[in-house]
Amino acid sequence: MSLRLHAPVVLPCDPSCSVLRDAVVDVVDGRITYVGGAAEAPAFDGEVRQLSGILLPGLVNTHAHSPMTVLRGLGSDLPLLRWLQEQMWPNEARMTAADVGTGMLLGAVEMLRHGVTTSAEMYFHGPELVSSVRAAGSRVVFGAAILDVPGMSWRSMTDEISAWIDADGLLSADGRIELAYGPHSAYTLSPSQLTSIAQEARARGALLMVHVAESPFEDEAQRAEYGSVPALLKASDVLGGRVLSAHSVHLSDDDIALYASFGVGVAHCPGSNAKLASGIARVPEMLAAGVSVGLGTDGPASNDDLDLFEEARLAGLFARVSKMDATVLGAAQALLMATRGGAAALGRDDIGALEAGRWGDVVHVDADDPAFATGLDAPDAQLLANLVWASGARRVTDVWVGGEHVVAGGESTRVDRQEAQAGVTAVAQRLRTA
Ligand SMILES: [Zn+2]
Repeated sequence: MSLRLHAPVVLPCDPSCSVLRDAVVDVVDGRITYVGGAAEAPAFDGEVRQLSGILLPGLVNTHAHSPMTVLRGLGSDLPLLRWLQEQMWPNEARMTAADVGTGMLLGAVEMLRHGVTTSAEMYFHGPELVSSVRAAGSRVVFGAAILDVPGMSWRSMTDEISAWIDADGLLSADGRIELAYGPHSAYTLSPSQLTSIAQEARARGALLMVHVAESPFEDEAQRAEYGSVPALLKASDVLGGRVLSAHSVHLSDDDIALYASFGVGVAHCPGSNAKLASGIARVPEMLAAGVSVGLGTDGPASNDDLDLFEEARLAGLFARVSKMDATVLGAAQALLMATRGGAAALGRDDIGALEAGRWGDVVHVDADDPAFATGLDAPDAQLLANLVWASGARRVTDVWVGGEHVVAGGESTRVDRQEAQAGVTAVAQRLRTA
């Protein structure tokens, strides 16, 4: 399989967020082999597609619970803990493994249509979730949710994901499926349970994803004893391996320094944090300290549209208004957080950028839109501003994953979207009457 994509603008999402003009992206056997100017490109023997807009890497959603498409809109105006206790947890307890597969299928299709080719999912029923991701043609980092609450055994949940990793390996050969540990939080697991789970993850080189300091109230007991959740994680020997800290809204300077020194990645979820009135994470301070920060949509029951372009825009807007400084987070930096930064936060160097050797996950944003009426030949900064501040996901027309065309003309080439929606409708109706 050899594919050359040729467009007037290519954004490789390299560290300086270069804007390449009249450029090509070559993908051979799933991997990128060349990115650069068309005039300098090597001779190419394969399919060549001429595109009219902007090519960029597939976006990386670093924190999601996408099967919750079946719960979208429930308890939408409640505060976090009441929303969890009164709406989410009772409904999730009634969801079957098949329901999770149904919800994930629509979530994966919806994300691909928004240019999101990889999502990190903390959820239950991994086999069904993974098979839906395979059906849609995207990528997933599946973090098996682990909680110590009545009716659930944190130990068997931990053993189950360990056994799965030991049987199938951490990462599939095609890079589509990565397995990980998802201890829910320091308020649903004890410090010693977190220690055990982290040991299992570290022994396998696996990612550990955990909710940290999302709302001001959830972790009062932990803060009273340890000072902060990051301090608890350090004291419990959870840090040191691959750790992804979701939300991380209420962090002190010491917490941020701790994250920087242990290489902890952060999944920043500005839309969810605003909707649940959790606060605004200190992204400028984290970036300045050298913390890898990616963006997350969080679940579709708390955000609710699985649109990572929107998160990039919100990340920039919130950082600016929280600092009362329009220079703190620019369009280029917001775009990098949605792509390369997200991959780095997950500890992955095979996705998140258009670079030789990475997977050929490519998004085409068509320029036939008022957002780009100032022209694709506008100066670099203006073009990036048009993409991040004005256009967002609405003109994502084509998406390739590993060089495979999975979205064409704005629709999945693999899954009948209306059937996927009908599947979710049936689950939602059953949950309502259960
Ligand atoms: Zn979450």
